[in-house]
This record gives sequence, C-alpha cells and structure tokens, in this order.
Amino acid sequence: MKTNIKNYELRITESQYSQLVQIAKKAYPNESAGLIFGNVSHENEENKDETFYIYVCKKIEEFESSKPSPVYFLLNDVELVYRKWNQAQEEGYSLISIYHSHPNTAYPSGIDADYMQNIARVYPNIIWTIYGNGSKELNGFILDSDTKIKRVKIQIGSKT
Ligand SMILES: [Zn+2]
Repeated sequence: MKTNIKNYELRITESQYSQLVQIAKKAYPNESAGLIFGNVSHENEENKDETFYIYVCKKIEEFESSKPSPVYFLLNDVELVYRKWNQAQEEGYSLISIYHSHPNTAYPSGIDADYMQNIARVYPNIIWTIYGNGSKELNGFILDSDTKIKRVKIQIGSKT
C-alpha cells in the first residue's frame, strides 16, 4: 500500500445516482449544480498517511444556475444556498460535496480548478462531483493538502 496518500471515497445509493443524472439531464446542454450533504467517517486514523475518508451521501439539493451556461455554473442566490445548508445541518448532515455537470466529459475544467482552490481555503476537504452528460461518467475529485487535484472513488450502491 502506498504511503503519504490520503484515500477518499464517496458513497451514494442507486437512487441518489439517478437523482444526480436527472439533475444533469435537465440542465443539459448547460451545466447543472447541486450540493451533496451527509457524513464523513475515518478508517485507520492511527496512521495518518493511510487514513481512509468515507463520505456518505444522505441528501442532494439541486440548485438552478444563476446564469445558465455550458461552461460554468453560478450560485448567486446565497440566501437560498444557506437556507438549504442550514436545513441539512439541522438534520445532522454537513456539506460533503459540490456537484455539477458538464455537457461532455467529467473532469475539472480550468474554471473548476480555480473554484476548487478558492473554496478549499474557506471550506477544505470538499469533494467535487462531476457528471458528464456525454461520457455518462460520474467522477469525484478533491484538492489534496499539496493543492493537487486528486481523484476520489465513487461507490454506487450497496455499501451505503
Ligand atoms: Zn466544471
């Protein structure tokens, strides 16, 4: 096993997966946006280099992009975002992932990379979940402590 690498996994159910795909299809060819709430647990905490982080999705909130576009998404309605965020927190969940879709593939764009850096400064350890309408892939990414974008495994189904 490799050391010095943190491992991350996002777990979603089949129906949560369908929900994410529907959100993406609805916005197509523009980008969709959503927030994923849930819980994070750790395994193998005694060895920091091999700690395994498990993000379990409990709730998905869809948001309409403030300015529909095929190359970015915008959440300008801060009040709505905080209302949904507070609701989720009252239910015992925290923000674990920012979701959006692309018309084609599911990899972070240059704009995404900038967003990831900016958001990580105030809210670290957020997974970026991206769905590609063209490739039909659902990928997860996270900024590691050295600010490199690292792939996160997305586990769909039974394990949740
Ligand atoms: Zn993007």
